[in-house]
Amino acid sequence: IYSEEQILQMKEDDFSYHLHPTSSIPDMEAWGGPRIISEGEGVRVKSVEGKTYIDCGAGLWLNNVGTGRKEIVEAASKQMEKLHYFQSFNGYTHPLAIEVAKKFAKMVPVENARIFFTSGGSESNDSAYKLARLYFNLTGRPEKNQIICRTKAYHGVAYGATSATSLPGFWDGFRPLVPGFHHTDHPHCYFCAWGKEEGSCDYECAKAVEEKILEIGPEKVAGFSAEPVIGTGGAIVPPNGYYPRVREICNKYDVLLIADEVICGFGRTGKNFGIENWGVKPDLMMLAKGITSGYIPMGAVALTGKIYEPIKKHGIFMHGYTYTGHPVACAAALANLEIVEKENLVENARIKGEILRQKVRALDLPCIGEVRGIGMINGVQLVKNRETREKFAPSVGFAKRVSFLGWENGLILRPLIDDALQLSPSLIISETEIDELVEKLETSIKQAW
Ligand code: PLP
Repeated sequence: IYSEEQILQMKEDDFSYHLHPTSSIPDMEAWGGPRIISEGEGVRVKSVEGKTYIDCGAGLWLNNVGTGRKEIVEAASKQMEKLHYFQSFNGYTHPLAIEVAKKFAKMVPVENARIFFTSGGSESNDSAYKLARLYFNLTGRPEKNQIICRTKAYHGVAYGATSATSLPGFWDGFRPLVPGFHHTDHPHCYFCAWGKEEGSCDYECAKAVEEKILEIGPEKVAGFSAEPVIGTGGAIVPPNGYYPRVREICNKYDVLLIADEVICGFGRTGKNFGIENWGVKPDLMMLAKGITSGYIPMGAVALTGKIYEPIKKHGIFMHGYTYTGHPVACAAALANLEIVEKENLVENARIKGEILRQKVRALDLPCIGEVRGIGMINGVQLVKNRETREKFAPSVGFAKRVSFLGWENGLILRPLIDDALQLSPSLIISETEIDELVEKLETSIKQAW
């Protein structure tokens, strides 16, 4: 419990000393300071003022097992006492890094997988792009080094990841970006860029990938990188035939399929990995977030044996982060994944995600256009006109207003681009908690309308 003076002081200190990532400073000023969360339990968190909120975003799409899981705390704390750090550079490592690498390699839908550890999603992305380029360099095709990504992609903020990202604002003021990144349109049937209806199209969205490869020249393209389900860009699920077609196209032109599973990975989509929903095997897979449910930072890249073989022949991978395979993160990851398995949370994501979508669809509010998602990665598309699917003008900031009112009503809600709301709570959410979430969401939307 914090006193009013303590809270005021914290807010003042925050203004004086803290630079927040992607936070609107005028908004924080208008709120009288940042929103300060000091504790939590399960799907809820509590502010320093003592008010509880359902966290509709599970942190940043990561808290799969919920807050306050003693098993993870104990595993991490034990490891911290035993050996808080040791490197995996220079031929060293430690038992838990080997155990986690083996576990992940056996889990991922990547042929003869090897695991490289990072500290988070941006590092996983940069590492994957470097691995794609390295693979073609080591196999005698150095000119095959261009990476194709998609519009509305979010891949993180390291320079390679920033260059792969394509959302407003992330490039402004940061140029020059890393050369060699291109973008093609993403699939989204509700707002189809090709003006087609789902079910009566010929996957123009997948053909766009082929067109981009041909435009650049197949002999120059190393990889195609995509989030299996777009997260920050709006929780957008592709049509069923998209990834199988994309895999065929990548095979045809010897282009590596790179799946950014930073949000989707480890259960959120109702399968262990997002791309498994479409039975497709990528060549490289980026992982983070759900590995430890955010109890401690950790990321990884899974690469196929095909990519590893030339590296083995070359003799060294000249890339790595100090915290690669951090022992405490490995301990947290193992404890976290044990909870996911024991409590059947992957299945819970699938079942409860469907219940959540059905309940939001049943609200029948005129500004709810599309309620989309798969498992526990969901977006509520708010529109000005449901019949025509006309969007609100950006200046209206409708989703932002709903989120603001959500905070007043006990929800942590995040507006995504183009007036979508993110609904991706922890995978442990109960049906009663879903009811409460939906009721508070309805109130917030009605108040904002
Ligand atoms: N890739 C995806 C799909 C993400 O959603 C994110 C973060 O939200 C990242 C990469 C970057 O991860 P990090 O913030 O851990 O660097």
